[in-house]
Amino acid sequence: MTELNLDAFWMPFTANRVFKAAPRIVTGAHDMYVVNERGEDVVDAMAGLWCVNLGHGRPEIADAVRDTLLHLDYAPTFQMGHPGPFRLAERLVSVLPDGFSHVFFTNSGSESVDTALKIALAYQQVCGEGSRTRLIGREKGYHGTNFGGTSVGGIMRNRQQFGPLLPGIDHLPAAVSRERFVRGFPPADPFFADELERIVSLHGPRTIAAVIVEPVVGSGGVYPPPLGYLERLREITQAHGILLVYDEVITGFGRTGTGAFAASGFGVAPDIIAMAKGITNGAIPMGAVAVRREIHDAFMAEPDGIELFHGYTYSGHPVACAAALAALDIYEREDLFARAGRMESAFQDMLFSFAGKPGVVDVRGVGLMGAIELAPQGAAGAAGMNAFVAAWNAGVMGRVTGDTLAFSPPLIVEQQHLDRIREVFEEVLAEQYDW
Ligand code: PLP
Repeated sequence: MTELNLDAFWMPFTANRVFKAAPRIVTGAHDMYVVNERGEDVVDAMAGLWCVNLGHGRPEIADAVRDTLLHLDYAPTFQMGHPGPFRLAERLVSVLPDGFSHVFFTNSGSESVDTALKIALAYQQVCGEGSRTRLIGREKGYHGTNFGGTSVGGIMRNRQQFGPLLPGIDHLPAAVSRERFVRGFPPADPFFADELERIVSLHGPRTIAAVIVEPVVGSGGVYPPPLGYLERLREITQAHGILLVYDEVITGFGRTGTGAFAASGFGVAPDIIAMAKGITNGAIPMGAVAVRREIHDAFMAEPDGIELFHGYTYSGHPVACAAALAALDIYEREDLFARAGRMESAFQDMLFSFAGKPGVVDVRGVGLMGAIELAPQGAAGAAGMNAFVAAWNAGVMGRVTGDTLAFSPPLIVEQQHLDRIREVFEEVLAEQYDW
């Protein structure tokens, strides 16, 4: 790739100088693979960035995008409409948990989170609960990088460069079990969710608008919730008139193996769901926020006029809607919302084959999302980064967060790909930790 000048692109969440000294350039992608600069297939163990759930290069999505661009490249959705978002909202409602009736469109997970938080605040206001302005996030939570999401997020490095952030925010403790090497949900530990009662008594329930959590922590290191945790959060929020928001940007669209959303499969439904990523298979940027009918209808009880002073130029963009409708056709035709459930055991077998090896301090996961946590070597994150780079060079694209290796392959993953991922990481970690 000698002809590529790397200088001008300021890369996100990247050590730019380190990367540009030894770049990793993806030059193509198909099915379960991305293609490296030498034209070789590299197994995509991360579905891009937790988003390419259907695998790469789906012709139906490409055709829908091209046809739509030629037919209707853009139309506004402020005081105007076009068919795409109406059709897509209806389709999404059909795969959402019962009771979810309306969908607001955004362009990313970060925008979905900020939109969800704004809807929660505005809802409390239209219900005459205007004193409810506090938002509760969680330590280790990742909710994107806009100001709302950064404020409720709980990863120190993502917060510390940006000043005081939003006022009126509090955080639950990270629900990280003391048990290690647990497949699926860790054992119950009432402490984590009961902390919400403490926060409620500290601030007063009538000051709190919403609590937001990822059903399974993703970017913070892949932590499935302890048994009973989401149930207890639901109980406490309901008792105090607080909305429960799930950030399903990663867990949505079949990732957890229990249907389209963790909200349906985990048996505890929230009031608002933020989503993005898999909605278009990552092909076109798009996000969405789904709400329960009571929330939507509370806004409609106001006198006629604009009910929510919020939206984006590209809310319900025709091309994104076409990509999402094509993606939903594939999810349904290939029964992919159930696929992570069918592959979970093979995937977890692969991950747990690393349990007990030198340098591996934890393995965890649920559905088709999992993590191998490594013992630090030198600076924080160095061990993880070394393993990630070595694996890329050996033919697997994973992801690293601190010293934790994360895995979330496309839902079409087969045993042969899992075998290849295991083989490469065995090689890499054997070298790194002197097995
Ligand atoms: N929320 C969660 C749980 C995420 O994992 C992410 C991205 O990884 C986001 C929000 C932000 O999404 P985006 O990067 O599309 O803004």
